[in-house]
Amino acid sequence: MADVLVVGGGPAGLSAALFAGKNGLDVTVFDTDKTWMHKAHLFNYPGIGSIDGSNYLSVLREQVDDFGVDRQQGVAVDGVESTGDGFTVATEEGSSTATISSSRRGRTATSPRASAVNSPTRASSTST
Ligand SMILES: Cc1cc2nc3c(=O)[nH]c(=O)nc-3n(C[C@H](O)[C@H](O)[C@H](O)COP(=O)(O)OP(=O)(O)OC[C@H]3O[C@@H](n4cnc5c(N)ncnc54)[C@H](O)[C@@H]3O)c2cc1C
Repeated sequence: MADVLVVGGGPAGLSAALFAGKNGLDVTVFDTDKTWMHKAHLFNYPGIGSIDGSNYLSVLREQVDDFGVDRQQGVAVDGVESTGDGFTVATEEGSSTATISSSRRGRTATSPRASAVNSPTRASSTST
């Protein structure tokens, strides 16, 4: 069972996954790869002079993978439900659940918190 479920693997979702994974949380990302990044060429990211959007995504995905994130590429989320102590996301292939453990429940906003995160274009966005 994951600590964090991220719906959408564009720059926002992968950034969330990167930080959560880097902080030791068990993260799953679902992504249908419809990001406009594939149409972009980036000149405006600090520290990156010039990079094709698809190449940028490849680098970001590799970085996320290196932190042990479970990246479910090509898997669409059809719905998100609160279970009271976490969230369950539904996909064509079944469902995944993230539960907020009691040890994490009391953390402040400066600490990573277990949640279903991100704001995909199709599924509803939920966070705690
Ligand atoms: C034509 C164009 C050119 C651009 N050029 C630039 C540029 O040069 N530089 C720049 O910085 N920005 C550029 N942008 C903006 C940039 O593409 C966005 O700011 C960026 O992609 C937003 O990232 P995001 O992660 O919020 O969302 P997205 O990139 O949209 O990522 C969302 C991801 O979630 C997935 N998803 C959605 N719903 C679901 C679901 N239910 N289940 C699973 N996955 C789901 C989508 O397939 C997608 O991969 C451009 C945008 C456009 C349209």
